[in-house]
Amino acid sequence: MPQRTFSIIKPDAVRSGHTGAILAAIDQAGFRIVAIKKESISIRQAQGFYAVHKERPFFADLCAFMASGPLVLMVLEKDNAVADLRQLMGATNPANAEEGTIRKRFASSIQENAIHGSDGEDTAAFEIGYWFAGYELI
Ligand code: ATP
Ligand code: MG
Repeated sequence: MPQRTFSIIKPDAVRSGHTGAILAAIDQAGFRIVAIKKESISIRQAQGFYAVHKERPFFADLCAFMASGPLVLMVLEKDNAVADLRQLMGATNPANAEEGTIRKRFASSIQENAIHGSDGEDTAAFEIGYWFAGYELI
């Protein structure tokens, strides 16, 4: 089976109308969308998702931002999905992101950076299980 990764179109990108363009970029890069849902999440749900960052100074702001409006949760599949999605996203800070990447095109700041992608295979497994039930991934 090809590798799976987890992604979020973050509230800034949904709010500014970039959902369709980001989905098109993901599609053009050869990912299969295994599962997708638009939701508004609570601060508690964001805290659980970003628990690895709980000691970082930006944690509270980050969780408030993720709960600030609807976002799009996705499970994506292709060979080398984890690394290929990170490349398509570009650097965390859009000022450092390569030309043509999703963050270069659509992100406005290091926090409001349009998209999330799992940073490893283990992280992807945790994140997929956090947001999706088994029956949603058939
Ligand atoms: P993500 O995990 O969302 O895919 P990433 O792996 O590129 O992004 P992380 O270091 O895991 O970056 O940080 C998680 C998120 O926290 C970032 O995407 C960004 O929204 C926010 N963030 C990271 N660093 C900062 C910072 N210095 N100031 C404000 N927000 C930050
Ligand atoms: Mg990360």
